[in-house]
Amino acid sequence: MRDRPIGLMISGSGRSGTTILSILLSQGENVVNIGQLRDVWVGWARDVPCTCGKSLTTCEFWGGIRAEAFPGQTAEEADRIDAGRRAFMTEAAGLRDWNAPDTLAHLAQAHPGFLAALASLLKTLVSRTGARVLVDSSKSPEFALACHLTGVADLYVLNLIRDPRAVACSWAKRKPRSINQRLDAWGQRQRRLTGWQAADGLHHRSLRYEDFTDTPQQTLSKVLDWVGEDLPSGVFETDRKARVSWARQHLFPPSNEKVLAELRTEVEVRAPSDWRAARHWPLHLKALMRSFPQGPAYVLGLDSPDRRLKS
Ligand SMILES: [Zn+2]
Repeated sequence: MRDRPIGLMISGSGRSGTTILSILLSQGENVVNIGQLRDVWVGWARDVPCTCGKSLTTCEFWGGIRAEAFPGQTAEEADRIDAGRRAFMTEAAGLRDWNAPDTLAHLAQAHPGFLAALASLLKTLVSRTGARVLVDSSKSPEFALACHLTGVADLYVLNLIRDPRAVACSWAKRKPRSINQRLDAWGQRQRRLTGWQAADGLHHRSLRYEDFTDTPQQTLSKVLDWVGEDLPSGVFETDRKARVSWARQHLFPPSNEKVLAELRTEVEVRAPSDWRAARHWPLHLKALMRSFPQGPAYVLGLDSPDRRLKS
């Protein structure tokens, strides 16, 4: 019998389909989608909209979690915890080795307030939902590390990787000025995730975005099987077409704004191919150079195949 719940942390870069993956993974009873949990304190402080139609403080799900985990919390107090969260992530990002026990002990001692707040939040999520698996799509390895340090859940870190050339083209459409920064982040996250080793209560697998879009149903089954769950029957109508229920979803910004705006109940998973057009070659070249060596290794299929999700 498992004594701790599972935190399935989707890590990786933006523009990689993490929001839709988290929704598809959490259609069964035992699995609850907690969105980009790292942004929940800011969400409460700003009272951002929830996909259920209410706001994050009045929503039955997140409002209830807040009332129990942080009774009487004001917007200023939520902002203070978020400042602690950012301080933790900045310090963690600057540390070379996350496998060294001294480093982890130092981090835990340096950020007791934030880690206690996170532990309380995770415990409340588990007790109120009764979930066996919580799916988080915060994407940052630093936030996954913080969750690991709380000891509340066994962490399953899923490194969702997408071709850096496709990521660059996607950012070029949305935030062209941030491409360099985003590509640097792509490389940093890959270096971090490949250097962070499995330890007690910490499991790692990588998933190629292209495998997800090629065989979505099989890929989702594999991810769920990894955490001991089955893909509920009826979610997929065909290999690519899924029927999505929003009844148990309470997602909030900054999760993918298009997904949140459309609330589609029929989802067809397809790989966008427009980024492959030859005219994008300068951007492709830049993406490969800035993400070197992980980016080119990924494109050539040389990225730690032993860590990939297996069937
Ligand atoms: Zn809601």
